[in-house]
Amino acid sequence: MGYKKPSFIENIAEKIGIIPNLHKEKYQEFDQDMRHFTDEEVAQMYANFPPPEKWDNWVEYNPKVWPRKEKKTYQIVPTTCFNCESACGLTAFIDKETQEVKKFEGNPYHPGSRGRNCAKGPATINQITDPDRILFPLKRKGKRGDGEWERISWDDALDTIATRIRKAIMEDRHNEIAYHVGRPGNEKFMNWILQGWGIDGHNSHTNICSSGARFGYNLWYGYDRPSPDHAEAKFILLISAHLESGHYFNPHAQRIIEGKMKGAKLATMDPRLSNTASMSDYWLPSYPGTEAAVLLAMALIILKEGLYNRKYLENWTNWKEYLKARHIEKEITFKNYISCMIDEYKEFTPEYAEKESGVKAEMIVEIAHKIGEAGERFASHNWRAAAASNLGGWAVARCLHFLTVLTGAVGAKGGTSPNSWNKFRPTQPNPPKPQKKWNELHFPKEYPLAFFEMSQLLPHMLKEGRGKMDVYFSRVFNPVWTYPDGFTWMEMFSDESKFGLHAALTPTWSETAFYADFVLPMGLASERHDLNSYATHGGTWVAFRQPVLREAARRNGNPVELTYQTNPGEVWEEDEFFIELSWRIDPDGSMGIRKHFESPYRPGEKITIDEYYQYIFERIKGLPETAKKEGLTELEYMQKYGAYEIEKGESYKMNETGLSEEQLKGSKVDPATDVISKEGKAIGVMINGKACVGFPTPSRKNEFYSQTMVDWKWPEYATPTYIKSHIHSDNLDKSKGEYVLVPTFRLPTLIHSRSSNAKWLVEMSNRNPIWMHPDDAVKWNFKTGDLVKLNTDIGYFIDKVWVTQSMKPGVVACSHHIGRWRRPQDKTGNRWATNTVNIEGDGKGGWKMNTISGIKPFESNDKDSKRIFWKDGGVHQNITHAVHPDPISGMHCWHQRVRIEKPGKEENYGDIFVDTNKSHEVYKEWMSMTRPAPGPNGERRPLWFNRAFKPDESTYYIDSEKNEQT
Ligand code: SF4
Repeated sequence: MGYKKPSFIENIAEKIGIIPNLHKEKYQEFDQDMRHFTDEEVAQMYANFPPPEKWDNWVEYNPKVWPRKEKKTYQIVPTTCFNCESACGLTAFIDKETQEVKKFEGNPYHPGSRGRNCAKGPATINQITDPDRILFPLKRKGKRGDGEWERISWDDALDTIATRIRKAIMEDRHNEIAYHVGRPGNEKFMNWILQGWGIDGHNSHTNICSSGARFGYNLWYGYDRPSPDHAEAKFILLISAHLESGHYFNPHAQRIIEGKMKGAKLATMDPRLSNTASMSDYWLPSYPGTEAAVLLAMALIILKEGLYNRKYLENWTNWKEYLKARHIEKEITFKNYISCMIDEYKEFTPEYAEKESGVKAEMIVEIAHKIGEAGERFASHNWRAAAASNLGGWAVARCLHFLTVLTGAVGAKGGTSPNSWNKFRPTQPNPPKPQKKWNELHFPKEYPLAFFEMSQLLPHMLKEGRGKMDVYFSRVFNPVWTYPDGFTWMEMFSDESKFGLHAALTPTWSETAFYADFVLPMGLASERHDLNSYATHGGTWVAFRQPVLREAARRNGNPVELTYQTNPGEVWEEDEFFIELSWRIDPDGSMGIRKHFESPYRPGEKITIDEYYQYIFERIKGLPETAKKEGLTELEYMQKYGAYEIEKGESYKMNETGLSEEQLKGSKVDPATDVISKEGKAIGVMINGKACVGFPTPSRKNEFYSQTMVDWKWPEYATPTYIKSHIHSDNLDKSKGEYVLVPTFRLPTLIHSRSSNAKWLVEMSNRNPIWMHPDDAVKWNFKTGDLVKLNTDIGYFIDKVWVTQSMKPGVVACSHHIGRWRRPQDKTGNRWATNTVNIEGDGKGGWKMNTISGIKPFESNDKDSKRIFWKDGGVHQNITHAVHPDPISGMHCWHQRVRIEKPGKEENYGDIFVDTNKSHEVYKEWMSMTRPAPGPNGERRPLWFNRAFKPDESTYYIDSEKNEQT
């Protein structure tokens, strides 16, 4: 498997230039670092991109009229992509004559994406020109969900919503206001707004996405996501299809390839032979949910063979605490620590891991050795995938980080750092204090450790009468379609006693917007302001998503006051909308809300969007000086380049940062733990006589042993563990045709329910068949294209089979992001991707969906809409899944136990049935697995656990008098 010498034929081909010569300077030998680019080399790569001094007058030939030569003059304005979290740089090419955006390319000045994009970036042009997009604010007519709408003004919408929010706050019904977000994208903006209103009103999609992995990482070191330094790594282990479709996908992908070009080896654990696996040196096709067993087997080999980093383990894990708690009879020595760990994991032999996972024992041994050899240069990543799919999936991330700890790769060059070390946090004007409210519809007592809001349970909790939503914003959020159990969402959305007012903030129609009272069109990537900063590599950057036509107008001397004045129709943006709404909630300032949204430069007046960003930008380290060199303000610099690199890869080993004398003043050191504390709070730890900042855990170290898990009633998981999943083979009855369905993977060209307004993307990907190995196909007598009925715990869906060797035998899979629909009464939207369906309820919880027609060509101002050749819009699978909230992390466990059968004669492709009574029963079944708060001292959540939109500490105590609201 390792480095292979070029063959005779390769040598000749390289010499005569038929293929590039990759061997002339021992190019693939790792430590040569042949692919380290100097700043000059990087500048050279960008030489073909228009230089910034020409961005206001860039002339190129119009490719559409080739071979005729026709010159076009553009203004080039940077912004960032909004089609996934990565926020890669884009540059909009605006026709100087017509002021229309003509295309998008990359932005070479963006340090994360470095000029490159995936297919979804340039497809932004499809989205802004989509003939079905929503251009004006709409209000429903008739019954909610009936599909009738009327155009209204922004003033109408703002006044109605503001009046209702004001009333709820005045009547102390703060917890009835919520903002539920699918794709966030503006650093801390909504904290500023919602905390300014004093509500605990943030709800996210994270529990159907990443909270499993977050929980696993957090238990170890107090940070909830990894930042692998792929480009500098020697060995990379991915537990997902990360190279082709993960979070920070394009920025990570280019760095993984950079690492590989320097000789790094790549291993991928995935039951599918994904594009990522096919690009890897090792593919580990593990049975879903057994990944932690494989990782622990690797850990055992590293421990037994002494491949671990002794110095790191000794200094930076809480091993003394572990021995004291678990091995009281043993002397506290490092040797005993190692031998106790070996004993703890003795059952995880490579053979046991092979039996559980199906991954060959020899491969497990070989990879363990490679990881041990890589040492600090071991980079790894788990996001969604296994951690988001299994009961106990969080343990996968925890076991993966165990390998990072054993090799000492935590925060090392070429290793895996905490995300927060590579992320910028803005300083906002007039910041509000944390809210003194705790919303139990978001963080119920049953889930004291849940890493994010239990958003997937919201409709069930409303159904049980635990509360209501008086004003509910869904923002780029489509739970009816994206979440499990969409029919229960529909039932609750249709009930005005559960959702009083539903405002959908969305650029495009969605299955959820059909059930709104207000549909308020918000800008796509190039039509809005946002601040982005992500941990794409060992460096820190900030990027500015800006409305490009507004910026072009400013440069042309025609500045506008509000963004919708340059956007198409009356498409607005959330930033200005929420500032305006806040002023209307508290028009005279008497509620204490308005003051947060006043200008920091013009006291008492409403803050403008330029002032908000100028205030943040002038506080970014180094930006004022850089901007000044070009004679620009900080805001003008960001408007010009769209991004700024704050720090260039020096943020390694930040846990070793020393505490200053000032910080140490008044502190004390606990002689038993070496933890340094001040005013009752841990601030660091003594390591070999040096006061270091450490990690934000109780021990300030990596916690191999978690007292928190013990204190919160899960002592069996005090150390990294393998938890058998709900779809473990022991839990499936093969004789009844039960299989595990992997429904979590994404096609690289699509993004949840947000790419169906992009014709190029839908043209490439428009079906989601069931992946099935040939052995299983033979067993069931299926061939590609045959119909298959997959029975879930609450219903079924009928799809087509795709027979492929890329699937592990015994497992089936179906991609998400496809199977979009609209009903005949709905506004036409996303016609590139939506089937027309009929939905019928029996009034007793039984729901049927049938496809009336697939995708068809249609008339529009886009000629391509008549050229649609694909007919198949796929099948909506998530709606047939029950909620499976992991009892600890709260993560929805996506994998499904399905019973495979052949459909009946009357059953058709795309047929769906769900019984929402059953789905509520499954909800209760999973709820019964929880171990509710309170924990120690009446806490509803460990104080050291972070929380989105963290409220005031007083709210963490369930029965405290200090707590105003439970
Ligand atoms: S990875 Fe693709 S979709 Fe995501 S931000 Fe970058 S260009 Fe856009």
